[in-house]
Amino acid sequence: MPEKQKQANVIHGKPVYGVDVDDHTRCAHWHDENDIIAILFHCCERFYPCFDCHLERADHPPTVWPPAEWNRRAILCGACGQKLTITEYMKSASRCPTCDAAFNPNCADHYHLYFSTPA
Ligand SMILES: [Zn+2]
Ligand SMILES: [Zn+2]
Ligand SMILES: [Zn+2]
Repeated sequence: MPEKQKQANVIHGKPVYGVDVDDHTRCAHWHDENDIIAILFHCCERFYPCFDCHLERADHPPTVWPPAEWNRRAILCGACGQKLTITEYMKSASRCPTCDAAFNPNCADHYHLYFSTPA
């Protein structure tokens, strides 16, 4: 396995694990202009760009953030390095509150993979 794929890419001082992670947290699965966030996984407290990166690289099934822990800074903006709480991210309207970079609005379709959302 190429060394690059085994090691984390350090982005704004934070290691981000995954597949072909670039310097703005884009990955092999999500690499459009606005795919610039990484998510701290509840199970291992490591940043991954996406669910599929975790699936391919982690050795355990993922767990999701319960609402009681949505005050954790679990979202990394790949543009400026700011860490948002999950609640801030949910309210961000797909823009970074710090640098105003646009996030992929389609991520909202996948919240349930990362966060325990009300049924
Ligand atoms: Zn994990
Ligand atoms: Zn990925
Ligand atoms: Zn930002």
